[in-house]
Amino acid sequence: MDGQTITAAPVLILLGPPGAGKGTQARMLEEKFGLVQLSTGDLLRAAVAQGTEAGKQAKAVMDAGGLVSDDIVIAILRDRLAEPDCAQGVILDGFPRTTVQAQALDTLLAENGQRIDAAISLEVDDAAMVTRISGRYTCAACGEGYHDDFKQPSQPGTCDKCGGTQMKRRADDKAETVASRLEAYHAQTAPLIGYFDDKGALTRIDAMGDIGDIAADMGAIVKTATAR
Ligand SMILES: [Zn+2]
Repeated sequence: MDGQTITAAPVLILLGPPGAGKGTQARMLEEKFGLVQLSTGDLLRAAVAQGTEAGKQAKAVMDAGGLVSDDIVIAILRDRLAEPDCAQGVILDGFPRTTVQAQALDTLLAENGQRIDAAISLEVDDAAMVTRISGRYTCAACGEGYHDDFKQPSQPGTCDKCGGTQMKRRADDKAETVASRLEAYHAQTAPLIGYFDDKGALTRIDAMGDIGDIAADMGAIVKTATAR
């Protein structure tokens, strides 16, 4: 052997509630490792636009106001994984959402000699996340960002950057809204996290820390997955 081994492209799954920085981390992995991030919404839109067989089925369901079935999503994913840009590996975002979908994904990957190499759960401290998100506000005039606890303007109520005095908050950022969003996330993903944990594929990462540290942890996981 010359040390060259043929390995199937690694498949990573990224889990984390809104605000955990999934998008940022996925972009870093794309840049650093040539992985491709696949989100369900993008996959569906692309398949519909390309008019693939599965895309046509998805379009018919969506046009009728229905929910696209797991079978169709899996078929779209099967087509997508066969495209050359996925050869370095993929990061799945937003799929699977249920253990049934995870099992279907396992079956699909097995056909390709692939598997779920790592399911990375970006873990947040819920109370700290509520504070972080609900404290945000921006200057209505210039968009400069502020925070009740972490970044107040030097003159309360007056923008440091443009002198504007109109501040705005997003309705979505209300503490109760953020808290219930987190609760829904945990309820929905708990079975999935258990599924990956049982398979030994789960890695939990503290998503409240420094972005560089999180990226380093993620990088180590990808290296392990790639080198298997
Ligand atoms: Zn301003």
